[in-house]
Order: sequence, then structure tokens, then C-alpha cells
Amino acid sequence: MSDPDCIFCKIAAGQLPSNRIYEDDELLAFHDIHPAAPVHFLLIPRLHIPSLFDVDAGHGALLGKMLQLVPRLAREQGCEDGFRTVINTGRNGGQEVYHLHLHVMGGPRPWKKQAP
Ligand code: AMP
Ligand code: ZN
Repeated sequence: MSDPDCIFCKIAAGQLPSNRIYEDDELLAFHDIHPAAPVHFLLIPRLHIPSLFDVDAGHGALLGKMLQLVPRLAREQGCEDGFRTVINTGRNGGQEVYHLHLHVMGGPRPWKKQAP
């Protein structure tokens, strides 16, 4: 299930380029094109879920898998001293891309004020 007009569905399908750091049959992680921190990557489900508003009980395992993967990828990307996780949701949440994604940001501070 994908949306032909969604840029993250296109990235997941390999129709748009991305700098991938992880992929499996359900999830994909790639570097943010406009990094707001020394380390800034996005973790997405391949499934087109527009936002956190659209998550339901059936997505529980998928979301759990996403969160479980975060510390592993963060460490691999050099965030041994910690990182920040952000999910922007809806217009007032500052969401720009309507395909659920989790930002992971880390690296030497200060950088927090510029984060999305
Ligand atoms: P938001 O929807 O506000 O949580 O943020 C969307 C994020 O996606 C922004 O940080 C963008 O820099 C990032 N982004 C947009 N297009 C691409 C792309 N083609 N490859 C990587 N990151 C992207
Ligand atoms: Zn999508």
C-alpha cells in the first residue's frame, strides 16, 4: 500500500534517491536531506501511514519495531552520547511530508534550537 504522489513512498520504492542507512521488509532509514544536527536521519515504515493521527491498534507491532530500532541505528551513526527523537504531526505540528517518519538527531551540541 503506497501513495503514488508521496515522496517517501517513492524513496521506499527506490524511485527517488536517498542515502540509506537501514532497510528491511517493513522499515527504511535514510539521512535527512536538510540535516538539523550533525547526525540526522529519518526512520519510516514502508507502509504509507500519512501521520501519527492515522495510527491505530493494528500498527502497534510496526511502531514497536520502529522504536526498538532507533537506539541501534543511533549508535551506529555515532550518537553514543544521546540523541533526540521527533515526530511532527499535522499542520500545527510542523509536518511537511505526510508519510509517517521519525526524526533521529544527535551529535555534538549545540544544535537543538535549529531542530525541526
Ligand atoms: P517533517 O515532515 O516536518 O517532519 O519533516 C520532513 C523532513 O523530510 C525534513 O526534515 C526534510 O528535510 C526531509 N526531507 C524532505 N525530502 C527529503 C528527501 N528527498 N530525502 C531526505 N529527506 C527529505
Ligand atoms: Zn508514503
